[in-house]
Amino acid sequence: MKRVALLGATGSIGRQAIEIVEAHPGLELCAAASGSTPLDGVDAPLKQVGGDLVELLERAQPDVVLNAVVGFAGIHATLWALERGVDLALANKESLVAAGELALAALERGGGRILPVDSEHSALFQCLEGREPDQVDTLVLTGSGGPFRGRSRDELADVTAEQALAHPTWRMGPKITVDSATLANKGLEVIEAHFLFGIPYERIEVAIQPTSIVHSLVRFRDGAALAHLGYPDMRVPISYALTYPERAATPLPPLDLTALTLEFEAPDPETFPMLALAREAGLRGGTAPCAFNAANEVAVAAFLEGRLPFLGIPEVVGETLAAVDGAPARDLGDLLEADREARSLAERGVAIA
Ligand code: NAD
Ligand code: MG
Repeated sequence: MKRVALLGATGSIGRQAIEIVEAHPGLELCAAASGSTPLDGVDAPLKQVGGDLVELLERAQPDVVLNAVVGFAGIHATLWALERGVDLALANKESLVAAGELALAALERGGGRILPVDSEHSALFQCLEGREPDQVDTLVLTGSGGPFRGRSRDELADVTAEQALAHPTWRMGPKITVDSATLANKGLEVIEAHFLFGIPYERIEVAIQPTSIVHSLVRFRDGAALAHLGYPDMRVPISYALTYPERAATPLPPLDLTALTLEFEAPDPETFPMLALAREAGLRGGTAPCAFNAANEVAVAAFLEGRLPFLGIPEVVGETLAAVDGAPARDLGDLLEADREARSLAERGVAIA
């Protein structure tokens, strides 16, 4: 029996994870946590609403931590699992983006594994399995392009939170849905892929594939490319991470090839500057990705609350990145400080925007 600690149990990923655990006789929840939503109806011996996730994990001693918390708040749980060599099924990309090198050092010390839950990274993980790094030419992360694909910058000046929350292919929590509309999500995913797979930024590309059937692909040095296809349904990567390497059955129908359209386009850098800002933060390294993430979290929250226009999101993030030094993170304290500083700079940016 594999004992799963599910953090973020009331969210979009959390609820789908419960469905996967309930359907699989080899999986059980040993702990479940949420930020503030009650855990009514969640069947787990240890339950916690709010509070310290590390304390909960210490009590639960899980075989695998499914970190489906949203945002930087997931960082302590990510580092806890990595440091102890406990399998980390990672949906909470913000923690890996922010912690970067520190997370990899903890992974090395702990000797465990990161099993990506993010669909693109699950796809890449599967395409890369058993390959040596020197065989890889490029990683290509795909994205739907979000609800505003094809629009010009000017056309986005007045878009509302409601419009940004209408994602064409995935049903997700509000923060990642806005990130998909700005392409900040793809930017976070470029950084996530860099740390997960050790590929330099110049060899990680982004392609728009509007129907979200191709979940990512790897180009190899011999000219072959391996792609991962499937319906856009997070139960597949959640199940893969929780049952790896077994690949358990899910209720999804087989892919119907005759009903597919597979077109690709390049992302529009003028309309979606968050992608370039994320790359810039990744290339600067140190605490720059942490600052990018923090500023984005602040800007997205302000946009959802009607305190910042849509185009203010890249503005605030760009100004914050320009103002921080991106010094190296020697320990968690440095990261917490970089996160705090970027948040306060971004809040100031929101106030004057
Ligand atoms: P959501 O908003 O639906 O759910 C977030 C969950 O985190 C909730 O259960 C909430 O209570 C919990 N939470 C928030 N702050 C917390 C805290 N301080 N302590 C404990 N719990 C806390 O979000 P989501 O869409 O499920 O996304 C979760 C994570 O997975 C994000 O990092 C997101 O980027 C990633 N992800 C989501 C999807 C998706 O399809 N939803 C796909 C890929 C990656
Ligand atoms: Mg993704």
